[in-house]
Amino acid sequence: MTERQSRTDGKVYFIGAGPGAVDLITVRGRRLIDTADCIIYAGSLVNPVLFSGCRVPLHDSAALHLEEIIEIMAAVVEQGGTVARVHTGDPALYGAIGEQMARLEQRGIAYEVVPGVSSAFAAAAALGVELTLPEVTQSVIITRREGRTPVPERESLTRLAASGSTMMIFLSVGMIEGVVADLLAGGYSHTTPVAVVMKASWPDQRVVTGTLADIGAAVQVAGIAKTAMICVGEVFSSSQPSVRSRLYDPEFSHGGRPDGGTR
Ligand code: SAH
Repeated sequence: MTERQSRTDGKVYFIGAGPGAVDLITVRGRRLIDTADCIIYAGSLVNPVLFSGCRVPLHDSAALHLEEIIEIMAAVVEQGGTVARVHTGDPALYGAIGEQMARLEQRGIAYEVVPGVSSAFAAAAALGVELTLPEVTQSVIITRREGRTPVPERESLTRLAASGSTMMIFLSVGMIEGVVADLLAGGYSHTTPVAVVMKASWPDQRVVTGTLADIGAAVQVAGIAKTAMICVGEVFSSSQPSVRSRLYDPEFSHGGRPDGGTR
């Protein structure tokens, strides 16, 4: 019996599609898409090539309201089917899955989340950078500048900049000058390194690098207005001193050795 025939209960799977390259989806996500009875995907950023072999109803959620999405899910699940609800990157980041899960919960519809490779990590990979460099920073802030979705004042870029951590700023490249102004007001300097990665892992990926002093102009010249990650902090410096980590220090014990795993 195939998995499809043996299934008794329907379910909605929120699946992270990864940042764009079709082989950056998880094995589990790929399998669930292949066996789904219906696919709903976030059309603007999920690579449609992921669905080229699929012969089930395919809905682009860009054209749908929340209620319509839930109705489609409910209809499939009531028949005992599964829905692959495919979000870009990891579904837990700016994917609006919270509101969908809450409504499924209300209706007693089962769901599960399958994580994905966030574009934050695809951008780091494209740059070949470790986001948590010893002696530089041990924290990464995932955030955005306020747009149509409000951001609480205590999390403004200006406030967050005070930590000097690595920052991965989503959904904000169209406001690059405002981002730069906020970060400078918060304590980063004109020499703080910045990289902007557009469409990380896609064939048309582009990278622009600079500092807070010149990144605004560089982004304008490159014509990058959307689907880009703004990466800010000293870890993005091209002249990073190579500080030795304690993880691979022969003088240091860790989880692979008898006495613990606290680095
Ligand atoms: N859940 C997604 C984010 C969705 S919000 C994730 O984990 O990646 C959409 C924003 O994500 C875009 O505005 C952009 O800032 C970023 N983004 C998505 N895909 C990207 C990519 N391939 N390269 C760079 N940034 C990307």
